[in-house]
Amino acid sequence: MTARLILATRNAHKVGELRAILGAAGLDIDLVGADAYPEIPDVRETGVTFAENALLKAHALAQATGLPAVADDSGLSVDVLGGAPGIFSARWAGTHGDDKANLELLLAQLGDIAPPHRTAHFRCAAALALPDGTEHVVEGRLPGTLRYEPVGTHGFGYDPILQPDGYDVTCAELTPDQKNAISHRGHAFRALTPLLRTLPA
Ligand code: IMP
Repeated sequence: MTARLILATRNAHKVGELRAILGAAGLDIDLVGADAYPEIPDVRETGVTFAENALLKAHALAQATGLPAVADDSGLSVDVLGGAPGIFSARWAGTHGDDKANLELLLAQLGDIAPPHRTAHFRCAAALALPDGTEHVVEGRLPGTLRYEPVGTHGFGYDPILQPDGYDVTCAELTPDQKNAISHRGHAFRALTPLLRTLPA
């Protein structure tokens, strides 16, 4: 039998991304998104760190379904802003999920900041919670430099302005596979795979 695992997201893209990561790691897991359980309400992200929010979501789903659950929480940390937008990345300009407004506000705030100080990194905490309350949380990072203008059409969020270290293109110019191979989310979920391998079928 194949172990069933639930991912705390209603975003089909994220479910597909994690399926690809688990498949590449050779894991035989039946991964379903939270959409498979429409009666379960979304969890409010009241934590003040990525790890707290990922754990909140994973525990809530594991308790509600009786299945092992994974959740992630991610964002962009800009060094010169002391780590902001951080957990406020999705609503930096006020409206949750307005990627264009968030990116434009950040670029305006950094308008006078010269390249050596435009360092930033994407961060992702990935949490695994079991119905018995056991928990694990790991973190992945993608460091880079912020451009002055958005470039590229792939991805989402702040992808068009983050140029990963060692690259001369932005994340939005990478293919999904290229980005998964180096991304904060890819690193975090790959770090969870040894634990996922031990889940009972
Ligand atoms: P979430 O926790 O994955 O929903 O991410 C929260 C916010 O962080 C998103 O709305 C984006 O603004 C930003 N973010 C997280 N991961 C990425 C990424 O891989 N590329 C660009 N922006 C990201």
